[in-house]
Amino acid sequence: MFNSENKQSENRIVIIEPDKRIALVAHDNKKYDLVEWAKFNKSLLSHHKICATGTTGAILEKELGFKIEKLQSGPLGGDQQLGARIAENEIDFLIFFWDPLEPQPHDPDVKALLRMAVVWNIPIACNRASADFMISSPLMDSYYERQVPDYDIYRNRNF
Ligand code: PGA
Repeated sequence: MFNSENKQSENRIVIIEPDKRIALVAHDNKKYDLVEWAKFNKSLLSHHKICATGTTGAILEKELGFKIEKLQSGPLGGDQQLGARIAENEIDFLIFFWDPLEPQPHDPDVKALLRMAVVWNIPIACNRASADFMISSPLMDSYYERQVPDYDIYRNRNF
């Protein structure tokens, strides 16, 4: 039964600024989808700071015509770089069109990236419909108080 005493910890607030740090990633079969989505939303995306895994970033940069920070290609460590950035509070949200029909050589990294997004309560969109809702939210251009669990209880656990 729901009981407020089951609450595991207090939350702390991290402010997401109006200009957001957005990470974009698409598996090969989903790259076309992401490019189409990004072109449709080009003007909305252009004033945010975009980073992407290597191949996704290179294609987007060519198609959108503005600068995108390119990390390693996903299977070569790009997903892990993004996960580390989320843990360091350097990414505000993630658009990740992963392919549900193809096993990937870096499946553990994919899972780890999605996990980091949940651990740190980062908004994530894994398909176009979610990405549409997210990009059209009034919160996109305003400040947002992101609640992050205070992990001090976990950090200070006894052994
Ligand atoms: P890529 O990586 O953009 O370098 O293709 C995407 C991924 O598979 O994570």
